[in-house]
Amino acid sequence: MQRYHHLLPHLQTLLEEARFLEKRIREEREALSAMVPLPVYWRRVKCGKDKCRRCPHGPYPYTKEKVDGKWQWKYLGKGWQPPEGLTKPEVFRKRLARYRRLLERLVEVREKLAEVERVLGDH
Ligand SMILES: [Zn+2]
Repeated sequence: MQRYHHLLPHLQTLLEEARFLEKRIREEREALSAMVPLPVYWRRVKCGKDKCRRCPHGPYPYTKEKVDGKWQWKYLGKGWQPPEGLTKPEVFRKRLARYRRLLERLVEVREKLAEVERVLGDH
């Protein structure tokens, strides 16, 4: 453990960044939802392939639909954007790109955290 002392500040920094990103992601998600009139859920989904290292994928836009009294996810399509006239498309695209960058960064930070924790746990 002694030899790995230098990793502790690193671990702290990563934990703080993860918390910060989670907060920003929540804020961005709320801002995005407020821009569209129907509830859109940005879901990260598993592809079901064995040992896929990029899972979960996305986020992809879904909405919920009631079919025979049951709620079902309905995929809105990869390049989905709110209908013209409701939101300025470029504003929406920018915010969505920012949201995706935050999510990607969070995945990276979580991977690094797992790595540091593994090193610390091994010794
Ligand atoms: Zn996958």
